[in-house]
This record gives sequence, structure tokens and C-alpha cells, in this order.
Amino acid sequence: MTPTLYRAAFMHTPSSPFTDAEALHVQQDGGLLVDGGQITASGDFVKLRAKNPEATVMDLGGGVLLPGFVDTHVHYPQVRIIGGLGMPLLDWLERCALPEEARLSDTAYARAVAKDFLHGLRCNGTTTALVFGSHFKGAMDLFFEEAAATGLRTVAGLVVSDRMLRDELHTTPELAYAEGKALIERWHGVGRARYAVTPRFSLSASEGILDACAALMTEFPDVHFTSHINENVREVQTVKELFPGSLDYLDTYDRAGLLGRRSVLAHSVHTTDRELVQMAAHHCTAAHCPCSNSALGSGLFPLKRHLNAGVHVSLGTDVGGGTGFSMLKEGLQAYFMQQLLGDGGVPLTPAHLLYLSTRAGAEALDMQDQIGDFGVGKAFDAVWLRPPEGSTLEAMLGHTESASATLAALYAGGTQADVARVWVGGDEVFTRAEFKGSKSAQKQPPVLAS
Ligand SMILES: [Zn+2]
Repeated sequence: MTPTLYRAAFMHTPSSPFTDAEALHVQQDGGLLVDGGQITASGDFVKLRAKNPEATVMDLGGGVLLPGFVDTHVHYPQVRIIGGLGMPLLDWLERCALPEEARLSDTAYARAVAKDFLHGLRCNGTTTALVFGSHFKGAMDLFFEEAAATGLRTVAGLVVSDRMLRDELHTTPELAYAEGKALIERWHGVGRARYAVTPRFSLSASEGILDACAALMTEFPDVHFTSHINENVREVQTVKELFPGSLDYLDTYDRAGLLGRRSVLAHSVHTTDRELVQMAAHHCTAAHCPCSNSALGSGLFPLKRHLNAGVHVSLGTDVGGGTGFSMLKEGLQAYFMQQLLGDGGVPLTPAHLLYLSTRAGAEALDMQDQIGDFGVGKAFDAVWLRPPEGSTLEAMLGHTESASATLAALYAGGTQADVARVWVGGDEVFTRAEFKGSKSAQKQPPVLAS
């Protein structure tokens, strides 16, 4: 097949701006040569064109190309209940989330929800997601089927619990193990799917359920692990009462043997210093979900304490406690919350926001060698942000004075409406209506100011 040379203004963060002041890489008139879904050359368009006259050029003028977003905490069954405002976590679960999650026992309903969910991801430019699944095995089988049909990369698993939710959402350790094993054998490593062992949270998972999860991870050592931790003060207190023999919330997972390099713990708002030391020692990731933390009033994420302790941090939208799939909005909200923390906050630059919504997520999933930036050898997972004509964002981008200011404008003003094209492994998985059928965009020059 003839390689494709994508011509675009592009930005990416091949390293972390938290440790590298030069992490943001910018190409004003950039070229990405893609062959068989992989980036084989990355740099200046004119130079790449001269070296590769045979390549088909796809001109992405008038916008900005970023690596596909990586959402590390998002609930598939909750897409239709986004917007349940005004309640703290445990009330919101009881009144909004769990009644909807119970409806996924109906596989026809679950399939429709899966379609809504996957469409929400791709039309927002999210190309990889660590997905919190359903409590029903049937709903997970069809989720993986639908995910394969969209072409997105998903890491997902059956959610297991055996207390304090609703009867229809409860399972047993034996069934949790058997259904998890069947799903892993059918889906883990198949196409772009991977499996995540997923107890809902220690509040709803007995030691027996956590042990069943650990048995799966021993048997299949390359699967992922995800759950919730330290989201809400009432939740933390309840977990403490349910596990009198554990040191703290993290210890409930640690004692079961569930923590490691591929463990992602969502929220981590009320985490103690001891827990942070242990999270760093296990190389776990904290998935920060700022819109959800704000919507449910869960608290202000202590990013500085995580970074000082050496805990890796990524970003998640936490749909439906969060307010939508846009990782641009999520990045902006992360920025807001650090601003509000004053001296206790970390001043986030546009480069930090880009890193948190792309490369940091790839690292959380141990997929940094495949995705997360535009380096040679990476899969071509990308989102082309091109605001509609006449939009405010278009006016903003036309007047920015640096690449960093352009990136700031994208996070401050960008929405789903600005996502024009999305690729995963070189396959176009979303195309905004106005670009359908056209091989190249309008003739505008790339939009980055020098
Ligand atoms: Zn969640």
C-alpha cells in the first residue's frame, strides 16, 4: 500500500512536562508519514515530501493535529445518565447510576447504550479508553463486539461486587472468577481490546470478591486492574468500617495482591501520605477526574502531593459522574482546580494538559511504546481539531501568538464540535459530516503561529 503523508500543524508531548521543560514538540508545517497504520517518519512536511515523493498527501490545513486522547476512567453503562447534578457520590450512585446499570441486564438495551458510549468517545477524539464496564457478562461481550466494530482501543472488564449495591448487580466470588476468565480468554489481546479486572470499589466488594480478582490476575499476569479509591469522605469512612483489619483504603487492594504497574485507581482525592508512598512503590496510576470531582463535590485533587510522592497521574472523564467525553474540557477543569488550590496547586501549562490527556494515559495503560505521541514507530492515533467556520474558536486560533497559546485556546474553547477527523492505527474512525468524501481539507495553511 502507498504510504500516506499527513500534512498538518501538529503538537505532541513525547515526554512529561512535569519532569522535562522541553516536553512540548511543535511542527508548524508538519508531516507524519504513515504506513500500515504506523508512523514511519515524523517532522517537517517539505523535507518529508522531498524524501517520499510516492506518498499520498493528505492536507489537514486550518486546524491542529494532536495524538488521540486517552481517557483512563469512563463508565460505559452511564452515558445516558450524564447530568445527575446536586448529589454526593453515594446518593448519586443509588438514585442515578445504579438503576441505569441494572437496565443493562437487557442485552438489547445494553447494545444501544454501548453504541451511544463508543460514539461519544470517538466523536470527541478519544482513541483509547480504560472503560469501567457493566456488571453483566452479556453486556460485556457485546461491548467488546461493538468496540471492535468502531476500531477504538479499549481496556475494559466485567465490574464485580457482592454487597451494598442492588441485588441484581451482585455476584459471587465463584461467578466473578468464572465470568472474568471466560471474558479474558475471549477478548484480551484480540484486535484492539484488552481486559481490566474491575471490582467496583472496596465498599461493594468483599474480601472474597477481591481474592477472585487476584486469582484472575495471577492466572493472566498481563491483564490490567482498575477500581475506585478515596473519592468521597463518606465512602472512605465506610470502607474503613468494612475492612477493620486494613490500614487504609489502598491496603484493601494491596492485601489482595491487586496493585502493580497496570493498576489504575480512579479519583484518589482523600489519599493519605502512606497510601501515596505505596502507590508509588507499586507503580500504580491515579486517574484524576476533575469534572466528576466538581459535579459530585468530592473534593480538590491533591496533584502536588501525588507528584511529590512520585505517583503517576493520568486523566479520566468519569462519565457519567463527569459531565461528558471531551478530554479538552477535562484538561481545562484540571487546570481550574489547580488554580483554585492557590499555593497548594500545581500551575498547569497547556503542555501539561496535552500530556495528561494523551501520553500520560498511554503510560497508565503501559501502552507508551504503541500510542500517546507522534514518535516514529507509534500507531497513527490522532485527532484533527478544526473549528467550524464562523465559530469563536476559529477566531481565537486565528490570533494566537505562539504554539502554546494555540494549545491553551484549544483547551479553553474546544468542544466536540471542533473534532473533525479521528484515526486509530491509521483507520479513520470518525469524520465530521462536512469532511466526508473529501480526501483533503480546504487550502488554508496550518494554523500554528510561530
Ligand atoms: Zn468512576
